[in-house]
Amino acid sequence: MYFKWVLPLSYWFSDLKNPSLIMLAILIFFFSHWFLSLFFHSFFLHRFASHKMYTTSKNWEKVFYVTTWLVQGSSFLVPRAYGVMHRMHHVYSDTEKDPHSPHFFKDVYHMMQHTIIIFRGFLTGKNLPDAQFTKEYLPVWDKLDRFGHHILTRLSFGAAYTAFYIYFAPNAWWFLLLPIHFMMGPIQGAVVNWCGHKYGYSNFDNGDHSKNSSPWGILLMGELFQNNHHYAKDDANFAKKWFEFDLTYFVMRGLNAVKIIQLIPVASQK
Ligand SMILES: [Zn+2]
Ligand SMILES: [Zn+2]
Repeated sequence: MYFKWVLPLSYWFSDLKNPSLIMLAILIFFFSHWFLSLFFHSFFLHRFASHKMYTTSKNWEKVFYVTTWLVQGSSFLVPRAYGVMHRMHHVYSDTEKDPHSPHFFKDVYHMMQHTIIIFRGFLTGKNLPDAQFTKEYLPVWDKLDRFGHHILTRLSFGAAYTAFYIYFAPNAWWFLLLPIHFMMGPIQGAVVNWCGHKYGYSNFDNGDHSKNSSPWGILLMGELFQNNHHYAKDDANFAKKWFEFDLTYFVMRGLNAVKIIQLIPVASQK
């Protein structure tokens, strides 16, 4: 009962003795964090902040912004830095100037390190991006960016994830999942950047190493259709073949239907 105050959720399970239900609570927490963080990564950071594939009202933009921060928590990716870096990735795809091409690093860890240095450089102003990458609209919310990026905010989220596991985990092995919670945003980015430009098949010749993965791509909500996406970077639908499915786009069609967002039609493709 020592951590009973930590999360309201704990009250639902306070008399719980069934180990499989306890395990279920942890798995729900883990997969909710995985998919919510990934969805807002793809839907807001990638398809809005970087590519502006839809328009929305200022209020909804703020809702998406706050939710992205909440679900990414300890590993919040500041939208303007993400957007600029991602635009660079498209222009310099798989060349030396690409901020995260797997073809210039011996492993994913070194690629991530390099990406984080560029990301921090944009945030601190030490390394300013080329003007061409800030020309298009970039969502900025200074106060939230500063608060969300602050080390104490990040540590508080980390402490909350840890508290959940202290309360629910039946043994220490479950704590191995905690680093994934701490680094959720960058880990998902690294999986997409590494695998999406290294493993899989191509539908189009884009002059780079972008690849598609199917059906595993479903776990990354459409983001692993890098080859399709590099071919038509403004098209909100990353799936191009009948056997490909882009879950993020599917949700976006729903949001478009209820008029929360307005998808911008892609007039002409290459
Ligand atoms: Zn790519
Ligand atoms: Zn993109």
